[in-house]
Amino acid sequence: MDTAAERLESIRSRIEKARSRFGAPPERVELVAVSKTFDATAIRPFLDAGQRVFGENRVQEAQGKWPELRASYVGIELHLIGPLQTNKAREAVALFDVIQTVDRDKLAGVLKAEMERAGRQLPVFVQVNIGLEAQKAGIAPAEAVAFVERCRTEHRLQVEGLMCIPPDGEPAGPYFAHLAVVGREAKVAKLSMGMSGDFETAIAMGSTHVRVGTALFGAR
Ligand SMILES: *Cc1c(COP(=O)(O)O)cnc(C)c1O
Repeated sequence: MDTAAERLESIRSRIEKARSRFGAPPERVELVAVSKTFDATAIRPFLDAGQRVFGENRVQEAQGKWPELRASYVGIELHLIGPLQTNKAREAVALFDVIQTVDRDKLAGVLKAEMERAGRQLPVFVQVNIGLEAQKAGIAPAEAVAFVERCRTEHRLQVEGLMCIPPDGEPAGPYFAHLAVVGREAKVAKLSMGMSGDFETAIAMGSTHVRVGTALFGAR
């Protein structure tokens, strides 16, 4: 079995290769290491190998491991990449550094209030339901530009980008391309798209944040 450091190096080099190969490469692609379902012991080797940006999709699960890890490593940046209920917003603002899953006005308003209360202005991404799937979270693509605008002007959130999870079992490229178009219209600089199976395609379409779990940590 290869080590955490070797897997990290292999993914980083694939990211860099994809980034430099395509027409208008993003200047920088951030690797968000998705550590959901893995405990602190499994995460430490990645921190030891220098990885600092991680993604978790449940507030409660993240609370169980990240305070301890933050106490031993400096510079950790934790992204929330799973759906957020408004009653967990306070805990999310206290624990995370970036919220990638803002997708409705009620949540945007509650997040702003909690950020003000905590004195912590976190950057956020708006999640777009790019395949218009009933079971997936996210704002509809056609409503995304207006929603980003409301997040900025009414809710006064710092919207940095868009995030999507394309439908399973279909080529992801066209969905990534669509998110990039919406991102340009919404005037956001960042796109969080691409996972273990398709991050190179996502980078070709302009992704700035790839969320890689299985290819680093193994099967869940
Ligand atoms: C689990 C998860 C990922 C990582 O998926 P892999 O296929 O394991 O790389 C990325 N994004 C979100 C939102 C996830 O929930």
